[in-house]
Amino acid sequence: MRLGMTINTKLYLQGLSKMCISLGAKRVKKKVSLEELEDFETLVLAVGGTLFQFEPCLSLNVRRNKGQVLICKIPFDGNFPFSVVGKGYFALDQKEKICYLGSSYEHTFTSKEANLKEAMSHIMPKAKLYLRFPSSLIILNCQAAVRAFCPETYLPLIGRLSKKIWFIGAMGSRGLLYHSYLGRILSYAIAKKSEMTIPKEVRI
Ligand SMILES: Cc1cc2nc3c(=O)[nH]c(=O)nc-3n(C[C@H](O)[C@H](O)[C@H](O)COP(=O)(O)OP(=O)(O)OC[C@H]3O[C@@H](n4cnc5c(N)ncnc54)[C@H](O)[C@@H]3O)c2cc1C
Repeated sequence: MRLGMTINTKLYLQGLSKMCISLGAKRVKKKVSLEELEDFETLVLAVGGTLFQFEPCLSLNVRRNKGQVLICKIPFDGNFPFSVVGKGYFALDQKEKICYLGSSYEHTFTSKEANLKEAMSHIMPKAKLYLRFPSSLIILNCQAAVRAFCPETYLPLIGRLSKKIWFIGAMGSRGLLYHSYLGRILSYAIAKKSEMTIPKEVRI
């Protein structure tokens, strides 16, 4: 894909946050419960894989899986002009010679923490299908997170959970693709005070 891009999500989210603040948003970084937020007239739950900690989300038809990614060093002097997507992905970092090999889809898991041995057993066989050199990469570390997804449609969910609580999530492994488009649709629905403006394919 000539117009394809590899996004450093940490930098991207920092940029997004700065932009929101410049437009008047206030950002508070704190673990919260719904009880603490009672005084707000509108709430949007955008809580990824932790949705079931919030009682209004318990009725949603959403499942979770664990995803891990390997952080690797490229040991040889190759010139890799772009990242590669196949049955998994090989993503270049902006730091030279660092890359990410992704990712696992672990539908049963006992811990959400990263586990290097497990991650390798899921990721390496896939990487060998679309890369010639995966076993020569030096594996430095791995990271893990939990995805939320809708098992029926594999489409995200947005909409209203109660009079004042809205939801955006279940983005599976496509959050980068969906978030801004659906964020815009959700903010319009909130402003109009009606979920009927949300396309029915993704409406709760
Ligand atoms: C290994 C892996 C690889 C992936 N690769 C890709 C990819 O290549 N492309 C792509 O598009 N997507 C990818 N994804 C999926 C992408 O990460 C998700 O779709 C996206 O992050 C979902 O966004 P979200 O905002 O719903 O949830 P999250 O990104 O999980 O954000 C939820 C936020 O809510 C906060 N939160 C939760 N509970 C509380 C609380 N009680 N109080 C305060 N804050 C709280 C969390 O701290 C977190 O910041 C990948 C996922 C994994 C695990």
